[in-house]
Amino acid sequence: MKIFNPATGGLIKEVHETTPAAIHAAWTRAKSAQPVWNSKTLEERLTVIRRYHDLLDRDSDLLAEDLSLEVGKPLQESKNEVQGARGRIRFFLEQASKWLQPQPVRTDGNTREELSLDPLGIIANISAWNYPYHVGVNVYVPALISGNAVLYKPSEFATLTGLHIARLLHEAGVPEDVFVPVIGDRVAGEALLDLPLDGYFFTGSYRTGKHIAERVASKLVPVGLELGGKDPLYVTDEVDDLKKIAGAVAEGCFYNNGQSCCAVERVYVHERIYDGFMKEFESEVRALKVGNPMEPGIQQGSLTRPAHLEFLEAQISDALGKGAKLLCGGRRLPGPGAYYEPTVVVNADHSMRIMTEESFGPVIGVMKVRDDEEAISLMQDCQYGLTAAVYSRNETRGRGILGRIDTGTSYLNCCDRVSPYLPWAGRKHSGLGTTLSWLGILSFVRPRGWHLRTP
Ligand code: NAD
Repeated sequence: MKIFNPATGGLIKEVHETTPAAIHAAWTRAKSAQPVWNSKTLEERLTVIRRYHDLLDRDSDLLAEDLSLEVGKPLQESKNEVQGARGRIRFFLEQASKWLQPQPVRTDGNTREELSLDPLGIIANISAWNYPYHVGVNVYVPALISGNAVLYKPSEFATLTGLHIARLLHEAGVPEDVFVPVIGDRVAGEALLDLPLDGYFFTGSYRTGKHIAERVASKLVPVGLELGGKDPLYVTDEVDDLKKIAGAVAEGCFYNNGQSCCAVERVYVHERIYDGFMKEFESEVRALKVGNPMEPGIQQGSLTRPAHLEFLEAQISDALGKGAKLLCGGRRLPGPGAYYEPTVVVNADHSMRIMTEESFGPVIGVMKVRDDEEAISLMQDCQYGLTAAVYSRNETRGRGILGRIDTGTSYLNCCDRVSPYLPWAGRKHSGLGTTLSWLGILSFVRPRGWHLRTP
């Protein structure tokens, strides 16, 4: 498989894909290796993961550089991601013992009742490219801590990162047959779906997630899906510092080139502050520095998938054809890399694809709204339910609005953030199941009830 640099179009490296036969053989070996891994104490497994956490820091410069080379994100964002993933690992190290211990529940006559948690067994983790360290850690770290073996398929757009993850986990002490990198595209993914695995954990698009859920349904094993979003943000008329808010909203829209599952994808602004807000927002967006992701100071690098340029162009021309206006941007930039200007479209409405279909790029549609009722009805008019944000100094009003949006995450006066302490659980087409938080630790275990009597 050839790995290209999307910022230059140049070939970075060629790697061997994992064939379906090799994937099958890895599963066979994992069947013997997983019980041995599970027979270690929880503390022993935590020690291995603690070592992995330290190795990520030791190699962070190399990891960040390879991530930027293969996905085109600014080097500083790649460094932030490696350190952010370490923060998530610290959460799991700190919390796992609390949630995974067996619990005595009650004594009933001469019967002691206990609850314990077994690993699922051998799971597949089919992953995405936009934050490969973050979305990977959400799955394979709690899965390994709780005694599972993992067949890990990084995205074909983040293969170097996937190989680094496997190398460092192995160096930390995870046996090679307990964490197996599966290299390739959908063909390798399909080979995982063919196996009788004990769980399927996927991060990626709704389309692929739905396909996977349907393909494995008859196996009756847990399926976790972290899918896309079309996340709305509403700026009410009870706000003070428009410049500060505009800066935060621009970052929420354009960080990682808009290629974040929880990127702000559509903005609604109360008519009373619309003109003032848009003036600040436009100047924030125009100030974004686009260019070679390896250069310092660049805020927006190359898109990861060059073919996505055409998709974005089609969304913009659909909007303009239906009466929207370009406030700024709207063009791909010249050169070999996949660069697209940060783009804002105003006078948008929900007949346009830019307001209803995940863009996953540096384009944003904006609508003026009369009041909260109109904002709520537009925010709710969506097939996705990952996150929603409201800006208001009136917390009662902000929480009231957010409480009426069907979404797994609600942001008041912030956006586009993830905390390992809180559940990450998309609703509707944004997903199924939970990662992160204590609930996300329990996604990788099955409960067992013990009825214990002395004869
Ligand atoms: P994708 O669906 O194209 O691919 C995801 C993974 O699935 C890749 O590893 C790919 O090789 C594999 N795959 C593709 N077809 C397959 C098949 N038929 N069988 C098995 N595996 C298959 O998604 P992507 O482009 O990598 O990621 C972008 C999407 O991911 C966006 O929609 C984004 O919002 C979403 N995402 C969601 C979250 C979240 O936490 N909710 C996080 C990151 C990304």
